[in-house]
Amino acid sequence: MALVLISHDLEIVRLMSSVTVVMYKGKVVEFGPSEEIYKRPIHPYTELLMSAVLTTDPEIERGRRTKPSATKEMEQASSMCPFYPYCLIRKDLCRTNQPQLAEIKFGHWVACIDEGKRTKP
Ligand code: SF4
Repeated sequence: MALVLISHDLEIVRLMSSVTVVMYKGKVVEFGPSEEIYKRPIHPYTELLMSAVLTTDPEIERGRRTKPSATKEMEQASSMCPFYPYCLIRKDLCRTNQPQLAEIKFGHWVACIDEGKRTKP
């Protein structure tokens, strides 16, 4: 039996799933084994969602991230990475390219131009 759980709360997803799929604006931006994604999130949107998980640890609270602001033109542009307006590590290259999913480790896929540099051992 398989269940699909849809939530913005990644802590709930982590507790209840063996595979996690992260979507942004209807597109898959990262997916793979839940344990791997929670240990090594690669896509900036996954990291943003992770930073929103509630915790009672004050050290973790200080590490929370906030989205940068975006202009309406940025949100409507179709040639750029969909997450460009809110990405904390965006680059000029991201304005003219739509990243495709790439397998960065067996079973762990990420759609980010910068994923190669961000891959952790
Ligand atoms: S492709 Fe660029 S803008 Fe998009 S998530 Fe990756 S770094 Fe950010």
